[in-house]
Amino acid sequence: MRRQLIAGNWKMYKTTAEALAFASAFLALLNHEGAGEADVCICAPYTQLSALKGAFTGADVRLGAQNMHFEKEGAYTGEISAAMLTEIGVDYCVIGHSERRQYFAETDETVNRKIHAAFAAGIVPIACVGEVLEQRDAGKEFEVVGAQVAKGLAGLSAADAARLVIAYEPVWAIGTGRTATAEQAQEMGAFIRAEYEKLYGKGAADAVRIQYGGSVKPQNAAEILGKPDVDGALVGGASLVPEDFYRIYKEGR
Ligand code: PGA
Repeated sequence: MRRQLIAGNWKMYKTTAEALAFASAFLALLNHEGAGEADVCICAPYTQLSALKGAFTGADVRLGAQNMHFEKEGAYTGEISAAMLTEIGVDYCVIGHSERRQYFAETDETVNRKIHAAFAAGIVPIACVGEVLEQRDAGKEFEVVGAQVAKGLAGLSAADAARLVIAYEPVWAIGTGRTATAEQAQEMGAFIRAEYEKLYGKGAADAVRIQYGGSVKPQNAAEILGKPDVDGALVGGASLVPEDFYRIYKEGR
């Protein structure tokens, strides 16, 4: 049985003071209302990771980054390596988010190199895939996502293939308030798992966690997370508000 992962993607929001205020409000909810059944993780801006690590000490809240470089170190001004993240105690890293593909020229090739570099450093990647609206309108969503899975997620060991987290995020549903239906999330989750089985076999396909992301809110979380091939959520906007993120987390299983 896969345990769901509810991950908050803060994007370029929150200063350290704001991050710490979130952490204390979220921890208060955990203390007063109890922990949920799913794994929970906050993917914060780099500069907030150390402070959050301290704030979450002793709590069952994991930490994630939103990007990393694929080289171990080098003359790459402005970049952050996997070792810099593991030193802080980061467990997860979002790789290939559609905003990075759109604005920062990420490709399936850079995604693939980053996934390998993350695993080599002991970080679990949350690898993002998803089609844009024109592709869905043209009926090409399975072709597009299938290619992203085949190219972006290629060449993993059996053990890493089982540990990977995939986030299916239809680009037209991100930050738009236009959520995919639970049926669409399920349909793509099942498709990705079938593609993954071709690459890595049934064991890895049964183990890999496939999240849905795109306008997940407290109001729609239960329905989406209730689907068998949805193994969690990657939550943007709603993860900025402690109560909202906590409600979504509590719907996880
Ligand atoms: P959203 O973002 O929940 O604000 O739509 C999701 C994401 O980009 O990961």
